[in-house]
Amino acid sequence: MKTNPMAKILLAASFAAKKHAGQKRKDGFEPYINHPLEVASILANIGEVTDEDILAAAILHDTLEDTETTEEEIKETFGEKVCNYVIEVSDDKTLKESERKRLQIERAHLLSPGAKQIKLADKISNIKDIMNSSPKNWSKQKKIDYIEWAKSVVERLRGTNEKLENYFDEVFQLAQRKIK
Ligand code: ZN
Repeated sequence: MKTNPMAKILLAASFAAKKHAGQKRKDGFEPYINHPLEVASILANIGEVTDEDILAAAILHDTLEDTETTEEEIKETFGEKVCNYVIEVSDDKTLKESERKRLQIERAHLLSPGAKQIKLADKISNIKDIMNSSPKNWSKQKKIDYIEWAKSVVERLRGTNEKLENYFDEVFQLAQRKIK
């Protein structure tokens, strides 16, 4: 039986929507699920990624960090490859935020090519959000610090997907102009 390549991606969308139910983005208004869906869409439409495991993992990328989802649940439902991508792009939540941010820069080059692309699209989506729908209580300096930090992570991910990398540069420059 030939399986429909869309099936896993649609299952991921439905799974993540349930897991993130009730959560909002940093602006306090937009449903959280819009973000992982945008990350997957950036990968497919700008990065021209067609691998269903990478796209499904992109939709699931914040479920371990921000919801009650377990690694076992992801592995059972989506397979080991998807699960490993999600683990790769998840921070260790037992660490302080400053430490997690430092480790993202330090470890970015160690990620698999699939995880690098997910992380890159994640940073693009976050910068676009900060630029377009200002998070509540974020000062100008906090926004500048965030986009500069995101750039430091991306600098260590380069060499995997030129289209995504060029798009990151465009979005970064636009954000810099808009925030300053
Ligand atoms: Zn994310």
